[in-house]
Amino acid sequence: MKTNNFEQFNLKKEILSSIEKLGYKTPTEVQEKVIPLVLKNKDVIVKSKTGSGKTAAFAIPLCEKIELLSNNPKALILTPTRELCVQVKEDITNIGRLNRIRCAAIFGKQPFKAQVDELKQRVHIVVGTPGRTLDHINRGTINLEEIKYLVIDEADEMLNMGFIEEVEEIINKLPKDRTTMLFSATIPEEIEYLCNKHMNAYEKVDVNTEAVTNENISDACYIVEEKNKYTFLRDLTYVSNPESCIIFCNTREKVELVTSRLRANKYSVNCLHGGMQQNDRLNVIKSFKRGEFSFLVATDVLARGIDVEKVSLIVSYNIPLEKESYVHRIGRAGRSGEKGKAITLVTPYEDKFLKEIEQYIGRKIEILQELDKTNIEKAKEAFHKKQLEVPKIKKDKAFELNKEVCKLYISAGKKKKIRAIDIVGTISSIEGINGEDIGIIDIQDNFSYVDILNKKEKLVVEALKNKTIKGKKVRCEKAEK
Ligand code: ADP
Ligand code: MG
Repeated sequence: MKTNNFEQFNLKKEILSSIEKLGYKTPTEVQEKVIPLVLKNKDVIVKSKTGSGKTAAFAIPLCEKIELLSNNPKALILTPTRELCVQVKEDITNIGRLNRIRCAAIFGKQPFKAQVDELKQRVHIVVGTPGRTLDHINRGTINLEEIKYLVIDEADEMLNMGFIEEVEEIINKLPKDRTTMLFSATIPEEIEYLCNKHMNAYEKVDVNTEAVTNENISDACYIVEEKNKYTFLRDLTYVSNPESCIIFCNTREKVELVTSRLRANKYSVNCLHGGMQQNDRLNVIKSFKRGEFSFLVATDVLARGIDVEKVSLIVSYNIPLEKESYVHRIGRAGRSGEKGKAITLVTPYEDKFLKEIEQYIGRKIEILQELDKTNIEKAKEAFHKKQLEVPKIKKDKAFELNKEVCKLYISAGKKKKIRAIDIVGTISSIEGINGEDIGIIDIQDNFSYVDILNKKEKLVVEALKNKTIKGKKVRCEKAEK
């Protein structure tokens, strides 16, 4: 009996098991179409709505196809933002975890040295932002000679003015004999000339039916004077009282301003924009994904690809000036089948932008006149009560998967000349343990981590008390995280 509809792709049992543990039961339409093509190494250009599961559409076949025993990366994935780079790395790591696929994220404003050390270990898949990827190429700290797969996520954005030169420079450094894949919810015809230049005969997969926007999101706009926007926003949030909400502004300054006003009004709120310290940016995203606060005010740095569960309201405080951006902003709601609402605040002089967006998405956006404020005082009370409550933490997507794997800490690393093969040697010599029980190994300067599968961690911890690794006595315990 078929228990999981991913079985149709004949995947390795480890990959199927990860998919199951992630709670994926049936492939989404884009996955159904794309996975078989990538398994056959076809070049593809894939247009499919926001939240439709594009990441797994390339991650699953990549994890399936990649040869585990080679030391150099086999696949390179390019993303436009650092946050998306981290997210895609996490998604791939989850899917490939039981199969020991190692994935590294390389992106700017993070210590170069740590990335170099990571790239020196066995890494199968690299996810990078273009700037930092080029840095590694130019300094000779990444080996791309064996790249067999190139994925350009958010492809239209990547082939736009801001990125195109860097992306082409990277492409020119890759082996010609490779499979190339482009993904986005919005792919204009114009990029085809670039595709002809850099791709083999490719297949176009267009899952979007008539509309480019996701049908799980209902959208509307209100005409609001700039000076009245903040009050309007407040009333709107009282009435909607969302679990999680993203507010997009067009500039960093506006983001800061709206955030500080909301904070002064005791909202559980944080912000994200390109002017912030990178660690703060990553922490904010992590904390928002966990549901530790409910309002995130952001620039378009958040518009592309970022996947947060249960975002039920998206507000564009400023109407986006680029039409594609509308699709991506509202697409932060309505992910994996959830429902969401998107409201855009349009000032009386901005109908030109609104028209452009409508033309682009191929339908009218409803213009609502006034917010229904009949019960606003009551709504306000309920709203503030909810803001003060201890947040409900959202369960990590990989919660079930993490239960399958236990990370152990070992008190010796590179400085003691320990290599992955030494750790495998010792652990697999333990009675009752074989290669299949050992997962990803990560060797740092002074310590190492090893994933142990099949609930055998206690056995390993006990046995290592009386064993040595490369002749050295080590301490081994369950890793903190
Ligand atoms: P896209 O790149 O198309 O915008 P993502 O790849 O980020 O979408 O996926 C959106 C969400 O759907 C993610 O939370 C992902 O874990 C989930 N998802 C992907 N594929 C499936 C599936 N087959 N079944 C259930 N959930 C899925
Ligand atoms: Mg995506």
